[in-house]
Amino acid sequence: MKKTYTIAGNWKMNTLSNEATDLAQSIRQQSANSNSNIILIPPFIHIPEIVRIAEKSRVHVGAQNCHYEKKGAYTGEISAEMIAESGCAYVLAGHSERRQYFGETDEIVALKTAAILESGMKPIVCIGETLNERQEGSTLDVIARQFRAFASHIENSLFYKIIIAYEPVWAIGTGLAATHQQAQEVHGFIRNLIISANPIAYIPILYGGSVTDANAAELFAQPDIDGALIGGASLKSDVFCRIISIADNINKELS
Ligand code: PEP
Repeated sequence: MKKTYTIAGNWKMNTLSNEATDLAQSIRQQSANSNSNIILIPPFIHIPEIVRIAEKSRVHVGAQNCHYEKKGAYTGEISAEMIAESGCAYVLAGHSERRQYFGETDEIVALKTAAILESGMKPIVCIGETLNERQEGSTLDVIARQFRAFASHIENSLFYKIIIAYEPVWAIGTGLAATHQQAQEVHGFIRNLIISANPIAYIPILYGGSVTDANAAELFAQPDIDGALIGGASLKSDVFCRIISIADNINKELS
């Protein structure tokens, strides 16, 4: 079956404005003939400029975070509605760095997911186990708990707008990606959780954690891997675009 792969680049707290502009322009140019869904996720401050560069192209823009309230006395925060107004179509929710360094709980991730959907954008909800959790054999329990925490709050009619990113915490930024067997095992499990929650919606499940142009082909060949959420390798336009081409080529072979 032919899939539309989603290739998302999370730039995290990287790039000054000229670097962000160069990176986005180069990706836009190199991906002009892509058949993938490409999402650039820059720091907030660069969003308006990256939205302008991405206009009338295959490239979409996302944000790395949002607050779940619409407005109010939350100094330093940005609401989903403000992000939508700036031209973003996606927002990350529950990235492990937010869970780890900013105390985001499953409940907060659920509230953010709901706020993103309410503002008309698509949440990319990140779930994944730590190394300890994997070693003690609780990976699938953790995934089920994190999934149910947000999925139980989502109206059926909005379910199809979600994207899930499976990101084992031990694989993020370490150069130690999950093997394609490890990733497929968890993706297959998530697929079944989705089917039990909403049998009608097809929700893309992205893999994240040290994806590069060297491991993307094996990962993308798995039946339940629909693309990637990429950190480090998304900051190099050539590497990121090679990953996009790998997805495009698999898609061509399938058609
Ligand atoms: C990420 O930040 O979501 C990520 C997967 O990072 P990296 O690709 O660098 O492991």
